[in-house]
Amino acid sequence: MQNLIVANWKMNPASIAEAKNIFEGIKNGVEGVNSEVVICPPFVYLECGMSDTPHLKFGAQNVYFEDKGAFTGEISTAMLKNLGVEYVIIGHSERRKYFAETDETINKKIKKALDAGLKVIFCIGETAEEREAGKKNEVLERQIKTGLDGNENLENINIAYEPVWAIGTGNNCSVEETKESVEFIRKISGVERILYGGSVKSENSGAYIKESGSNGLLVGGASLNPEEFVRIVKSAE
Ligand code: PEP
Repeated sequence: MQNLIVANWKMNPASIAEAKNIFEGIKNGVEGVNSEVVICPPFVYLECGMSDTPHLKFGAQNVYFEDKGAFTGEISTAMLKNLGVEYVIIGHSERRKYFAETDETINKKIKKALDAGLKVIFCIGETAEEREAGKKNEVLERQIKTGLDGNENLENINIAYEPVWAIGTGNNCSVEETKESVEFIRKISGVERILYGGSVKSENSGAYIKESGSNGLLVGGASLNPEEFVRIVKSAE
């Protein structure tokens, strides 16, 4: 299976010029790699002249579950499709934490995105408290079961296992623990392509790809540095 390496730029950078610089650096550096590489910039940069290539694609960081209408501030699946966007991240822990997304709203978003023909990067992961309380697998199972409820066709679903305590902290999950979780997630969900995310850097990225059983990475902070992100992508070769 082809590895999938996703750059989540979150709410960065501040200008189109900077976005283009990062994009061009990544585009030049990843030419010819075997992985599928997806850049998820803020919505406003999805249509600002950065042209994708067959091996470098675009994704959105979120989408709404209604078709159109009075939903101020939201973006629809049709808008993304009409821009040529191929992937969408759904259920990122920052969306769950700061924007009150629940397993139920995430389920509606996943259904809508799949119906529109978008490929989904469905994020799941336990908090530090849940892990310490021994509830990791219970939480992952609940997120998977509710998030995927009613979706029989799993072909366009990728799951990103992102322990919340590992995101943006520098405290990445060990490869051994990731391997256990990846196996558990694959068994519970039936989804084939499972990614790891959480403080990935070029020093640890190769080990996740080669030893954790995952099929790719979701990279936040390090994806804003084109040289570092290209090193991460190349570590999967
Ligand atoms: C993320 O945003 O999904 C993420 C994993 O962030 P970071 O790589 O910065 O931990």
